[in-house]
Amino acid sequence: MENREHIVLGKTWEEWEAECPIVKDIRSLRETVWINPDKIPCQEAVKNCRLTMEDVLDASRRLERFAPYFEKAFPETALSHGIIESPLKRIPKMKGALEAWDKNEISGDLWAKLDSHLAVSGSIKARGGIYEVLKHAEDIAIENGLLHEGDHYEIFDSEKFRKLFSRYSIGVGSTGNLGLSIGIMSAKLGFQVTVHMSADARQWKKDMLRSKGVTVKEYESDYSVAVKEGRLQAEKDPYCYFVDDENSQTLFLGYSVAALRLKKQFEEEKIAVDKDHPLFVYLPCGVGGGPGGVAFGLKLVFGDHVHCFFAEPTHSCCMLLGMATGKNNEVSVQDFGVDNVTIADGLAVGRASGFVGALMRPFMDGCYSLDDGRMYQMLALMADSEGIYLEPSALAGMYGPLLKSHFPVFRDYLEKTGLADAESHGVHLVWVTGGSMVPENEMKMYYEKGKALL
Ligand SMILES: *Cc1c(COP(=O)(O)O)cnc(C)c1O
Repeated sequence: MENREHIVLGKTWEEWEAECPIVKDIRSLRETVWINPDKIPCQEAVKNCRLTMEDVLDASRRLERFAPYFEKAFPETALSHGIIESPLKRIPKMKGALEAWDKNEISGDLWAKLDSHLAVSGSIKARGGIYEVLKHAEDIAIENGLLHEGDHYEIFDSEKFRKLFSRYSIGVGSTGNLGLSIGIMSAKLGFQVTVHMSADARQWKKDMLRSKGVTVKEYESDYSVAVKEGRLQAEKDPYCYFVDDENSQTLFLGYSVAALRLKKQFEEEKIAVDKDHPLFVYLPCGVGGGPGGVAFGLKLVFGDHVHCFFAEPTHSCCMLLGMATGKNNEVSVQDFGVDNVTIADGLAVGRASGFVGALMRPFMDGCYSLDDGRMYQMLALMADSEGIYLEPSALAGMYGPLLKSHFPVFRDYLEKTGLADAESHGVHLVWVTGGSMVPENEMKMYYEKGKALL
């Protein structure tokens, strides 16, 4: 029996380690960096990809159609005319704090994309999650003859529409934040909604959803099980639509719209992205849809001048494992004796999306893993230096600008790609993915933990 447990897809752990040495780092929970050897020039990758800029633009237009609805239903979006978008912020004090903490220099400017402060649900899930619910609502409204081309979408905020949607239900499996986004959005439109929460989900997220009339089912196991159960229950009900975080192209496209918006923000800030001004982006990764969708959009917009790295906890580095072994969702971290237990609840996923892994194979620059302790430490540093309070998951990307000081393979990568010199004229953009809705007492606990570790 014990022997069998150590065999993954017909090979022993030792055989995996011999064939793919990074598996040793993963198994021993060592922080590590993986550079994608299968990346190809962006233009070529775009040509071979089944998703295109037209798909991203279609998603963007749909969000624009819904803007008048948001202005009405969520007054906090009035200032941005119903468009849910996050600030882009230069964080020089955090740059200084990181340098002092790590005793290493960061070359280039440090910026943060504050998805932590997105309206409605306070995390990156306000992009993909909300988008998928809107698309579904739009489809139903058209099917039922309640919506016609040219209609003003404010009508979604009406008794007639709520009554229609109340005949339908929506389900989702989540470690927390996706459940918040889907739950809040679906309930507001009038759907019946059930969120299947994994053991990692924080209590306050469940409480908040229940207070909005969402049914929350709790599981003692991890994310994959919550998704599987949710999917099964939804299959039994023809009126139930399941948002499949592991396979959804719609979610992915919802995330990708971020790139179009970022392009505008860069123009406003007069930040150039070209051969002499590379853009490095560090994205916290769970199942992969969020970082995958955003990175895909960025590649379409900035081509070979943007370099995207996915960041994961050492205990849950499923994308790193799937990409490095080439087996995507055929392998889980648990298969290799890694427990998928992390404080970064947004990233507590043991098996990555196969759809995202396959699609991103020719685009992605690499992945890295980091300890939970570092996320706590950087959380405290960010709070003290910039006054911005985030959840642990959101800090995973913050280690990116320091990778070259710790990992020879990252230095090699910069040298080989000719980025070593250009780096100092470039931008490191950390995608800060969540935190503004964390209750004060919970945040205090995170912060104090981080302070104690510094
Ligand atoms: C969900 C989440 C991510 C990662 O998104 P995936 O689509 O699961 O890869 C990152 N940060 C936070 C805070 C999240 O909630």
